[in-house]
Amino acid sequence: YNAVRQADPEIYDALKKEIERQETHIELIASENFVSPAVLEAQGSIMTNKYAEGYPAKRYYGGCEFVDIAEELAIKRAKELFGAEHANVQAHSGSQANMAVYFAVLKPGDTIMGMNLSHGGHLTHGSPVNFSGKLFNVISYGVNKETETIDYDEAEKLATEHKPKLIMVGASAYPRTIDFKKFREIADKVGAVLVVDMAHIAGLVAAGAHPSPVPYADFVTTTTHKTLRGPRGGLILCKEEYAKTLNSQIFPGIQGGPLMHVIAAKAVALKEAMSEDFKVYQHQIVKNAKRLSERLMKHGFKLVSGGTDNHLMLINLSNSEITGKEAEEALGRANITVNKNTVPFETRSPFVTSGVRIGTPAVTTRGMKESEMDFIGDLIAQVLSDIKSDLNINDVKSKVLELCKQFPLYRGKLY
Ligand code: PLP
Repeated sequence: YNAVRQADPEIYDALKKEIERQETHIELIASENFVSPAVLEAQGSIMTNKYAEGYPAKRYYGGCEFVDIAEELAIKRAKELFGAEHANVQAHSGSQANMAVYFAVLKPGDTIMGMNLSHGGHLTHGSPVNFSGKLFNVISYGVNKETETIDYDEAEKLATEHKPKLIMVGASAYPRTIDFKKFREIADKVGAVLVVDMAHIAGLVAAGAHPSPVPYADFVTTTTHKTLRGPRGGLILCKEEYAKTLNSQIFPGIQGGPLMHVIAAKAVALKEAMSEDFKVYQHQIVKNAKRLSERLMKHGFKLVSGGTDNHLMLINLSNSEITGKEAEEALGRANITVNKNTVPFETRSPFVTSGVRIGTPAVTTRGMKESEMDFIGDLIAQVLSDIKSDLNINDVKSKVLELCKQFPLYRGKLY
């Protein structure tokens, strides 16, 4: 970052500190990852200079012949990787991907059905504070109180009763495999369009570590920066019959010029996702999550649904004096980064919460395996055994620093 260092020492300083933070912390936020140097390079490239409103070969600007190569490759690879009929790679984010799909099939006031935010759904699946909850009439399904897994019978009952025009499936904090076929049947029964937001599990789906929604859903949306390990952005897959409408909802519907540097980086990430190494990586994420969940349960922690099938788990602190907020802060002081999260049937406020969400994509990218998961489980238990003792927290912190040193990130090459 030589140029930044000279032009803007304050930003250089922030960048350097952020790199050090990433190097010296155990990153367990389930939606985060570390992109490859190739993805970083493409995203930090001169393609940021180009306006390219429109789509490849149909642009509203001259000079698009080379950014067209990037977008065409990204589209081709997305379709091939996920076996989709059509791909739009221009969505700036996961939220905008969802917005474009809603606008492709809905009018304001229409009824949609999505997963309850506090049961694991995302804001864009109908939360009242989000555009989705403001523009549409929202029916929420959730998990069963006993099993804490999706209550498909309840979802079917609600759909039959309210006849939603669109059913949104997918989650930000759900540790179990989702039955897309079942949701297809429910959607068919009531004549709804089925949308799957696979943002969290896209990498797992690409590698066959979670069943694919593509054969069942009319639209599949995702972010590209979570398990998929690409640049921060969105991606939409759909059946050919929706291709034209969908494209027009992204541009000119809700966006102007696409971020061509990000699209180039998406293309690189999608190529990486086709490799054998990526498959091995995704399966390791799942193995690591399983191992970490078992270790935490051995320490006496209650996990939502009693474990995990995918890349994340939720510690349920409902019966503990420690709140999600306190746990997040204490773990943070020991250089272990997690996020507080609501749990199903939450009793505390969303700013306090009774849950901690933990994911293994980022630590797996660093090369950590099952034995490190046991160690991390022990460290989490040690922190939470006494969150008030600085001695305890500092002891864990020194162990974390030692572990991070054994799994260097970017090997100090970024500054
Ligand atoms: N969908 C799901 C399931 C998510 O978990 C998220 C982000 O956390 C999004 C959509 C939104 O993505 P973005 O933050 O890029 O808008």
